[in-house]
Amino acid sequence: MKPSTRLITLGRDAPGSAGFVNPPLVRGSTVLHTDVADLRERARRGAAGEDSGPVTYGINGTPTHHAFCDALTALEGGHRSWALPSGLSACTIAILAFVRQGDHILVPDSAYGPTRKFCRDTLPRYGIETTFYDPRIGAPIEELFRPNTRLLFLESPGSLTFEVQDVPLLAQIARCRDAVSVIDNTWATPLYFRPLQHGVDVSVHAVTKYIGGHADLLLGTVTSNEACWGALRETIRSLGMTTSPDDCWLALRGLRSLEARLTRHRATAERLIDWLLAQPEVERVLFPTRPQDPGYALWKRDFCGATGVFGVVLQPQVRVAGFHALIDGMRLFGRGYSWGGFESLLIPCHPDRSVAPLPTAGLLMRISAGLEDAEDLIDDLQDGFSRLRAAKQD
Ligand SMILES: *Cc1c(COP(=O)(O)O)cnc(C)c1O
Repeated sequence: MKPSTRLITLGRDAPGSAGFVNPPLVRGSTVLHTDVADLRERARRGAAGEDSGPVTYGINGTPTHHAFCDALTALEGGHRSWALPSGLSACTIAILAFVRQGDHILVPDSAYGPTRKFCRDTLPRYGIETTFYDPRIGAPIEELFRPNTRLLFLESPGSLTFEVQDVPLLAQIARCRDAVSVIDNTWATPLYFRPLQHGVDVSVHAVTKYIGGHADLLLGTVTSNEACWGALRETIRSLGMTTSPDDCWLALRGLRSLEARLTRHRATAERLIDWLLAQPEVERVLFPTRPQDPGYALWKRDFCGATGVFGVVLQPQVRVAGFHALIDGMRLFGRGYSWGGFESLLIPCHPDRSVAPLPTAGLLMRISAGLEDAEDLIDDLQDGFSRLRAAKQD
């Protein structure tokens, strides 16, 4: 079955669904057992990590959690998945599960800001050191590995600056060095990039973005191969990490329309980009589907699609006052963090980088193309650029 068909059928035969196409929303902490033998058998299965089996207690997930997590596992082609309270917690737990005092990890300079901050400010308190690397480094990453390098983090394309990484190469180098590789796969979703098929050990999603798709939930997931699952599951268990079944239910509902939404998000993004590139104030667009983009060749080789969030770099002579006038007057593009929902968003960005050069000296904004009519969005941008031009004359 093709991925778009699987999105429709996944999770259909969840326990207790009574023939309805969607799994039931099961809330609960306590599970009643039939007898001592049942208590023992379910505990044994729980300890053996048979998470999709019968549940013993709500923290191990209800059938609603399992329906969503199993769907994600199937899409990612992994061993198991688990839902976590946010995309950020999925990133941090995927790191914590594999490191100990004295270890060293490698993190791309383009990693999602709060992930960077966790590595820079929190991990040192536990004796774990991070080296940030240029996301486009390729084979020379070898030189950054130390005997105590335990984990290689990836994010492709990177946050705000959209650098595409050579994921198969980096994952292979990590494996040769006995380091675990973890990728934040949020931009591509499991439909357009399947990291485990490219040699990565753990794939992370901020479900909050495209999978949820409706700006109404916060959720993350981790999916891993069999070798990494034990450490990951044990860390999640010992930290007491759980999520609301309501959010898992909404996330599974979001999955149903993921392909249809992404097709539209991408088409709108491409139209907005065509329009933007025709404006003299736009220096370049950061989006790997364009042959001029430095990430184009890798994107074309490894990905099977693109979503609808991208960066726009303005010419260095564009002033802040004009930039703010453009952004402040937007009618359809909301000024809000996050992305991947039905609503278009546009925010100014100030990437925090320590080793990789920023793509430009000019001002940078990020656009998440929503599901509105593209012509209406272009009208909104047109007015925005008129405000920018008017401000520049002052
Ligand atoms: C938003 C985002 C996250 C964090 O997700 P939350 O659910 O908001 O915590 C992680 N990684 C990337 C790439 C993101 O864009």
